Amino acid sequence: MKKVVKFGGSSLATAEQFRKVGDIIHSDPSRQYVIPSAPGRRFSGDTKVTDLLYQTYDAVAAGEPYEELFREIRGRYEEIIQGLGLDLDLGEEFQTIEKNFLAQIGRDYAASRGEYLNGRVMAAFLGYEFVDPAEMIVFHEDGALDADMTKRTVAKRLAGVERAVIPGFYGAKRDGTVTTFSRGGSDVTGSVIAGAIHADLYENWTDVSGFLCADPHIVENPEVIDVITYQELRELSYMGAGVLHEDAVFPVRREGIPINIRNTNRPEDKGTMIVDTTCRKPRFTITGIAGKKGFCSMTIDKDQMNSEIGFCRKVLQVFEDNGMSIEHMPSGIDTMTIVVHQSEFMDREQQIVAEVHRAVHPDQIFLEADLALIAVVGRGMKDQRGTAARIFAALSHARVNVKMIDQGSSEYNIIVGVKNDDYETAIRAIYNIFVMTQI
Ligand code: ASP
Repeated sequence: MKKVVKFGGSSLATAEQFRKVGDIIHSDPSRQYVIPSAPGRRFSGDTKVTDLLYQTYDAVAAGEPYEELFREIRGRYEEIIQGLGLDLDLGEEFQTIEKNFLAQIGRDYAASRGEYLNGRVMAAFLGYEFVDPAEMIVFHEDGALDADMTKRTVAKRLAGVERAVIPGFYGAKRDGTVTTFSRGGSDVTGSVIAGAIHADLYENWTDVSGFLCADPHIVENPEVIDVITYQELRELSYMGAGVLHEDAVFPVRREGIPINIRNTNRPEDKGTMIVDTTCRKPRFTITGIAGKKGFCSMTIDKDQMNSEIGFCRKVLQVFEDNGMSIEHMPSGIDTMTIVVHQSEFMDREQQIVAEVHRAVHPDQIFLEADLALIAVVGRGMKDQRGTAARIFAALSHARVNVKMIDQGSSEYNIIVGVKNDDYETAIRAIYNIFVMTQI
């Protein structure tokens, strides 16, 4: 059994958190490859080291005083090193970093030092080999990951390495320029490493006990999802349920490796297991609910639209020409509706309306703003009678008017459109009917 274990910033913000991480790693010998993030917030209102690094680098670029910020960053690491009682001096590292900041060698380089230094501390703390991802995680010139090359170099570099600490978040282009993933990208590093070495499990340790069935800001103490498929996860994450970086799924999914989301502060909790496919029935009919506000719809009516070949294509072409991605497209015989992100649409509203007029000569165009979309997701809904009925009965009892419905024939997902103002009420009503009634 071989595991890759990634620890997020809040799991590594203080010496005390490092100790918890050490206990977790030592309690299971198969936890061989450790991916640390940079130190995160120690308390609410605190600043993540990554943000301090960006600020420092930008201050240097602007010719402003940066020394205080730089000292603050150094202080964060020293606090951890002292708290752990380690005999580690990062003085030379900080000199090199300062020199490189002054030479303005790159913002990505600046941000990456958070993980780099935390990796140094973690390797010293655990007595593991330190492996710099700049040696093996390869980016293309345009900043995208070179997945094939990376897989080969990681497998080669780690062959024969029994235990290692590999900082998250960055790698390098072929010319050696340090490059990062987008924010939260240590999740991706863990996934890339797990995929390349064919790990049995990728554990992602954070500060929550897994994926929740619904947003805890809306539903009080929502249940934790015990098992979720990659497909369900994708649907929920797209709708804003975020614990894991979006790109962290693909490298492990391709290799059939599950991800286990765990809580560093509650290691006894089993967390959420993310799997490719499973026979295990979900605890409730639905796996989870997620949603987003801020959509708007354009409804286009035209008599005998159904017999006008190419009508939809012409409308969609207008949106494509305006660089707009379409979220949903419910339709009737003589009507079609396009649902898009309101903030993107507003900039080009009149232009798009005019172009649709010219493209298809509709009888009328009707715009509606301030919509929210709610995704009710679950493999348990397949072949199950009455799921939609329960959703709509619950919404009706909660006095929520449904503006739009969309269900794919995969039966994994029912999307409901409501007014922004009804969003929270709707989520609570759906959660209650499926989770609180336990059917
Ligand atoms: N430290 C980086 C960030 O704050 C990457 C990570 O934590 O995954 O975004």
